[in-house]
Amino acid sequence: TTSAETLEFQSEARQLLQLMIHSIYSNKDTFLRELVSNASDALDKLRLEAFRDKDLQADTDDLHIEIDTDPENRTLTVRDNGIGMSRDDVVALIGTIAKSGTAEFLKKLKETKDSAASQDLIGQFGIGFYASFMVADKVTLLTRRAGSDEGVRWESEGEGTYTIETVPDLPQGTSVILHLKPEDTEDQLFDYTSATKIKQIVKKYSDFITWPIRMTEGDSADNVVTVNSMKALWARPSSDVSEDEYNEFYKHVAHDWNDPLETIRLQAEGTFEYQALLFLPGHAPLDLFMRERKRGVQLYVKRVFIMDDCEALMPEYLRFVKGVVDAQDLSLNVSREILQQDRQIQLIRRRLVKKVLSTVKGLMTGENTDKYETFWKEFGRAVKEGLLDDFENRTAILDICSFASTNDPEKLTTLREYVERMKDGQEHIYYLTGESRQSIENSPHLEAFKAKGYEVLVLTDPIDEMWVDAVPGFEEKQFQSVAKGEVELDSDTTDEQKEEFSGLLTWLTTALAEQVKEVRLSSRLTTSPACIVGDTNDVTPTLEKMYRAMGQ
Ligand code: ADP
Ligand code: MG
Repeated sequence: TTSAETLEFQSEARQLLQLMIHSIYSNKDTFLRELVSNASDALDKLRLEAFRDKDLQADTDDLHIEIDTDPENRTLTVRDNGIGMSRDDVVALIGTIAKSGTAEFLKKLKETKDSAASQDLIGQFGIGFYASFMVADKVTLLTRRAGSDEGVRWESEGEGTYTIETVPDLPQGTSVILHLKPEDTEDQLFDYTSATKIKQIVKKYSDFITWPIRMTEGDSADNVVTVNSMKALWARPSSDVSEDEYNEFYKHVAHDWNDPLETIRLQAEGTFEYQALLFLPGHAPLDLFMRERKRGVQLYVKRVFIMDDCEALMPEYLRFVKGVVDAQDLSLNVSREILQQDRQIQLIRRRLVKKVLSTVKGLMTGENTDKYETFWKEFGRAVKEGLLDDFENRTAILDICSFASTNDPEKLTTLREYVERMKDGQEHIYYLTGESRQSIENSPHLEAFKAKGYEVLVLTDPIDEMWVDAVPGFEEKQFQSVAKGEVELDSDTTDEQKEEFSGLLTWLTTALAEQVKEVRLSSRLTTSPACIVGDTNDVTPTLEKMYRAMGQ
C-alpha cells in the first residue's frame, strides 16, 4: 500500500453529498439503479476500448455485473469487471461533480422551501454515484483501470473528505461496497441486505441492462443466477414492453430520475436496418443553453454501444431528445467524423427529426394538450432555433410553435389559430419583439393595431429576433413587425392632412436630422403623440442590444 491521502471533495460535490446524507429523497431504491447503470456504462466502455485498441491488456471474456449482500456485516457490494478507474480518474470523477449546471441546481435548491418541489428538483438533476449515501454511511470503492497494474482504494463517509490510496492486486473493474445505515422502516429505508429485496429492485429498474447482473442464491456460492432478462428494449416488439420498462430505460440513458414526457419508437427494415427508441424528457436540462451542452442520442451497432451524444443523429435544435439508435450495418469502429459524412446516417437523422416533429404535433393536436404545453414551455426556445437551421422542416417546425399574443394574455396561440382569427383584408401576421410582455404591451407601436382589433404576436425570446427575419411566412402570410416600415392600416392619412402638416414635418425632419431619417404622419398611434419606427430592414432595438452584448 502506498501514498494514502485524505482529500477534500470539491465544494459542489460536498453540498450534493450533504443532500444525500440527510436525504429528503423518498425513493431510496434509486441508489441501486445508479450503481448498476455506472457498472453497465463501464462494461460498454471496456468492450469498445478493447475493440479499438488491440494492445489493451484487458480481460473481456466474461463481462458482467455482480451484486453481493452480506447481512452479517451489513454491506452491499456492486462489482463490475469493466473499464475501471485510475487514481486520477477517481479524483476527477468521484471527488468532483463535472456535470454542467450543478451550481445553478444547488442555488435553485437553496431557494426552494417546500419539500415536494425540492424532491422534484433533485429528480430533475439526477444524482449518480452519490445516491449511495442515501443508504450507506460509508462507501468503499476498489477499482483498477483495464490495462493498468495499479489499483485504487477510495473511501468516504461523505462528510467533506475522502481517503485514497494505491493498492496492488485488485481485479480489473470496480467494486462499490456500501456500509449500510441501520435499518429504519419509518424513513422507508428498507433492508438492503435482503437478497430478495435487491433482486426485486434490479428487476424493476435494471432489467433491460444488456450485461448479466448476477447474484448468489441461497447459501451455496455455486448457485449463481442472472437476475435481469438482458433484452435490449428497442429490439423487443413494443407490445411486449410496458410503459414502466420504457420509463426505467429512459432514466438509465438520460441520467434523469423522472419519467419522460413521451416515448418514440421507430423501426426500419430492409437494406439499411435500424431501430430507434427516443424520448422527450419532461423537463429541460440545466445546460440546454450552455456552451458545453450535449446531444442526447446514443449510437449502438448490433446491440454494441458505440458512442454517447451522437451529434450526427440529431440536429442541435433537438439536442434535448434522448435515446438510442441501433444500426445493423455500420462498422463497429465508425468514428464521429465518418458518421457526419455517412449517407445512411443522414437518412436516419432525417427520419428521426421528422418523427420527433410529428410526435410533438400529435401531442399538440391530441385530446389532452398538457404534454404539448409542458414540451413547449421546456423546449420551445431550443426548437425555434430550428427555424434558422433546418430549412427542410421549417413548415413542420412553425406548425408546432406557439406564441404569446394580444388575443389572450393567458394563452399561447399557434400560427394556425392566429391565421384563422385574421380579420378580412388582413394580409400579414403581425408581431412585435421586445424584452418582456409588459414592455411590448406598453409600446406605442401597438396602439393602432389594438384599436383596430388586429392581433399581434408578442415575441420575447432572443431567438425570436432572428427567425422572424429569416422565415418569410406561414401559409402564404408574411410576418410583419408592427415596429418597422410603413404598416398599412386601412385608415391611412389623407392628402389633406399631409398638406396641413407638411410645414411642421419639414421643420421636424431638419431639426432632428442627427437622430432620424424622416418624420412622417402616421395612422399607427391613437393616444401617444409620436413614436420611433425602424426601416423595414433595420435591426430592432432588442437585436441591437443583443449584438452589443455579444461584442459585435
Ligand atoms: P454519471 O454516470 O452521470 O456520469 P455518476 O455520478 O454516476 O455520474 O458517475 C460519475 C463518473 O464516475 C462516471 O461518469 C464514470 O466516469 C465514473 N464511474 C462511476 N462508476 C464507475 C464504474 N463502476 N466504473 C468505471 N467508472 C465509473
Ligand atoms: Mg451514473
